[in-house]
Amino acid sequence: MASKKKEIALQITIGNQEHWEEMLSSKGLMVVDVYQAWCGPCKTVVSLFRKIKNELGDDLLHFAVAEADSVDALENYRGKCEPTFLFYAGGELVAIVRGANAPLLQKTILNQLIAEKKVLDQGAKREVIKDEALFTKEEEEEEEEENAIMIHAEDELVPPKKSCTVAIIKPDAVAHGKTNEIIMKIQEAGFEILANEERTMTESEARDFYQHRAREEKFEELIQFMSSGPCHVLIISKSRDDEDVIPAWREFIGPTDVEIAKKEKPESLRAQYGTEVLFNAVHGSDNREQASRELAFFFPNFRKIDKTTEALHNRNLERTLALIRPEILKEKKDEILQKIREAGFSIAMQKEVMLTEEQVQEFYREHTDKDYYPALLQHMISGPVLALALVKEHAVEHWRRILGPANLAEAINKAPNSFRAEFSPKESAINQFHGSTSQEEAEIELSFFFPVEYTLATIKPDALAEHQDEILEKIQSAGFTISQVKETCLNRDMAEEFYKEHRGKPFFEQLVNYMCQGPCLMMILSKENAVEEWRKLMGPTNPAEAQTTVPESLRSKFAKSILQNAVHGSSNKTHAMEKIQFIFGDIDLEQERISQEKQMDYILPEEE
Ligand code: GDP
Repeated sequence: MASKKKEIALQITIGNQEHWEEMLSSKGLMVVDVYQAWCGPCKTVVSLFRKIKNELGDDLLHFAVAEADSVDALENYRGKCEPTFLFYAGGELVAIVRGANAPLLQKTILNQLIAEKKVLDQGAKREVIKDEALFTKEEEEEEEEENAIMIHAEDELVPPKKSCTVAIIKPDAVAHGKTNEIIMKIQEAGFEILANEERTMTESEARDFYQHRAREEKFEELIQFMSSGPCHVLIISKSRDDEDVIPAWREFIGPTDVEIAKKEKPESLRAQYGTEVLFNAVHGSDNREQASRELAFFFPNFRKIDKTTEALHNRNLERTLALIRPEILKEKKDEILQKIREAGFSIAMQKEVMLTEEQVQEFYREHTDKDYYPALLQHMISGPVLALALVKEHAVEHWRRILGPANLAEAINKAPNSFRAEFSPKESAINQFHGSTSQEEAEIELSFFFPVEYTLATIKPDALAEHQDEILEKIQSAGFTISQVKETCLNRDMAEEFYKEHRGKPFFEQLVNYMCQGPCLMMILSKENAVEEWRKLMGPTNPAEAQTTVPESLRSKFAKSILQNAVHGSSNKTHAMEKIQFIFGDIDLEQERISQEKQMDYILPEEE
C-alpha cells in the first residue's frame, strides 16, 4: 500500500536479452532491480533512487528494472522473491544488494559511482565481482549462502542508536551551486547521509534554531542570512560504528572563522566554500545535546521507529504483516497457524477483523483500478480476516517466499508447495494470503491493523509497595510508552465506580477494600494493540493459572491471590477510554504520546 504518485520513468525497462546487452554497453553505473513477474519491481526504493538522482544530478547514474523470466542472462535469478539489485559498470557486475535496504543501497550507489568515476577519469582498475550465491548447486546450500549475504546486508544497516548529527549546507553554498560537490565530499570522507532535506527556513524558525545566540551582536544578520534562501539540512553519521560523528564533523568543516579556516585548515569545507564569518557555508552541531535538539527541530520523525522495531532490529529480527483471507480462515486457521510456526515465525500480534468496504479501499488503494479489485473487495468483506504480525529474521522476504506467486494458477504450476497453492480456495480465484513487500510497507500495514492504542493500567496497592520498580521495568521493556502516570489513593466511592462492572459480585466488597488500602499507581500506556498487549503482559486474573499458562507474566510473578493480583488493565478499548477519563480527566492522548516519545527518542546514547 505504498503511495501512488504518478512519476516520470526513472528506471528503464529491460524487457529481453537484447535490451540487457544494450544496457551492458551504457556508460556509467547502472542499478538494476531484478524482479519476478509475480512479485513485481521493488516499489519502495523508487523514491530513494529518485532522490539520489535528483541530488547528484549525475549523467553517469542510471536505473533499470528487469524481469528475471524474460532475460536469458538472469536465468539464475528466476524464482527468487527477495528484491535483488545488481550494479553494473562498463558491462561488468560490480556490486549486489539483496533486500530493499535503503541505507545500504544509498551507500552502494554513492561508493560505486565514485569508484566508476575513478575508472573513467583516472584509469583506475574496476573491481569486478561474481554473485557467489549463484554458483552452488544444492538448493539448501544456496539458501544458506543467500542468508549469509542477507545477514551481511543487515549488518550494514544503520543501527538505530548510532551517533548522528545535524549538518546544514547554508544558503550561501546552496546559492553558489555547491550542494552536490559538498555532498560528494562528505560521502568521500566516510560520512553517511541518513537524510537530506532542502528547505528554506522562515525567520522565526531561524530565530528559534539559533536562540542560544540571541545575545550576539550579529544575531539579526545571522537570522536574515539563514532565512535568505534554501539550505540543505542533513542528518549524518560515520560509516564506522565506533566513531563519534559530532567531533569528526566539526573537524571536517573547520573553524567558524573562514579566514582562520583558510590558514589553519585549508582542506576543511569552510576554508573551501566559505567567504566570511557569517557566510561560512556549513553548520555542525557542537555537542550531543545540541545535536539531539537540532535533530528534533528539523526531523521530528527521525528515529520514531517505534521501540518494538528497534528492539527487534537489535536482535537481527524483522516483522511483517500477514493476512489470511476469509474463505479459508474458518476451516484452516489452526493448520495454517501451525505451519507458520513450523516455518520458524513467531506470532507477535494477531487479530480477527471484519473490514468495511472503506477500510479495504484504504488498505488496497494501489489496486483499486485493477480488474481483479471488485472480486478482491467482495472477498475481503465477506467475513473476518486474520491479521498477524510475524517475527523472524528476514520475515518480509521469507513470508513472501513461502506464499508463492500472487496469481493462483501460477502458484499452482510453479510453486505447488507454496501456501497460496496449498491453501487455494474452492470457489474464487483470489489467493488467500497477503504479505508486505518491504520492511517499510510492513510497518505501515502493521499500523493499519494494529494501530497505537491507549489503555489504563494500574499497579495495585500491595504490589506498588513491594514491586514497583520491577513492574515498571517490565512495562518499559515490553515496549509500552507510559504517557501519563499518577499515584492515586482511591476512596470507597472511587473504587466502587472504578470497578462498577463488578457490583453485585461476591468479591466486590473485598475488591473495594483492597483497592483502598493504600496508593495505587495509575498509568496510561500506549503501544500498538495496547489493550490486548497489556492484558497479555498481566496474564490471567488468577495467579495459579498465570503460573502454569504464562509464567513470564506479571501476575505469575507478583500476584498473591486471585484478589490481590498486583495489576489491573482495561478489558477493551471502550473501558480503556472510560477509565482513562475517570482517572485523568479530559486529556489529549495523541499529543501526550507524541511529546513523550519525542523526549525518549532524542536521548542519544551516552558516550562510552
Ligand atoms: P481482570 O480484568 O483480570 O482484573 O479481572 P476482572 O475484571 O474479572 O476482576 C477484577 C478484579 O477483581 C480482579 O483483578 C481481582 O482483583 C478481583 N477478582 C476477580 N475475580 C475474583 C474472584 O473470583 N475472587 C476474588 N476474591 N477476587 C476476584
